[in-house]
Amino acid sequence: MKLYRFCGGGARKLFVGGLHGDEGLYTAPILETLASEAEADDNYGDLIIVPSLTMGGRYIGVLSEEYYRSREGMILTGLIKRYKPSFYFELHAYGESSYHRLTNPEREKREGVPPFVDLDDHEHTHNHILLGSIAPVLRELFSAGDFCLTIELPKWRSDEEGVREEVLQILRIGLLSLTRTEMLTQLRKMYPDALKRAEALFIQYYHSRLEPF
Ligand SMILES: [Zn+2]
Repeated sequence: MKLYRFCGGGARKLFVGGLHGDEGLYTAPILETLASEAEADDNYGDLIIVPSLTMGGRYIGVLSEEYYRSREGMILTGLIKRYKPSFYFELHAYGESSYHRLTNPEREKREGVPPFVDLDDHEHTHNHILLGSIAPVLRELFSAGDFCLTIELPKWRSDEEGVREEVLQILRIGLLSLTRTEMLTQLRKMYPDALKRAEALFIQYYHSRLEPF
């Protein structure tokens, strides 16, 4: 497993991709680009970037407890416990046939977690990049003030420059933001409608126990 570590000041941030199955094939190129950008500029602070936790491992969904007993799952929780990041970005890749399930308004009833929000709106092309909270069982490892986000990129579009660039734009906000408020403000500016929906879904799920995300 490749891990980039940049020791600057400020909040510690962990970026992880390729958590299961073959997703690393799609997440690694994007996170490698992010790492090279971070390497070229030492203003970005305290970073850990893992382009792919696993390459071609078994596919176990991150919502299941079983995942956190798998090799990849244990590496992931080990990283979080060791580095205690206050910003956490999880990058996944999904197949076209999963789009409906992931964004289904009934997802909470069916899978116990809120649906992902499609970031497409009038100002953006239809890239089908999805955004949402992280698995509740993993969120427990973080404290209330931490910022934790999942991004799902479409496998069938991952070669497109526009798709990669849009994911990178979101991750760059992660690199640049000093506080969770700043992070949220920037995301709301980029995706006003999608963020409104994602925040409402988060609040509905966690009630007042946690603030998005
Ligand atoms: Zn995944």
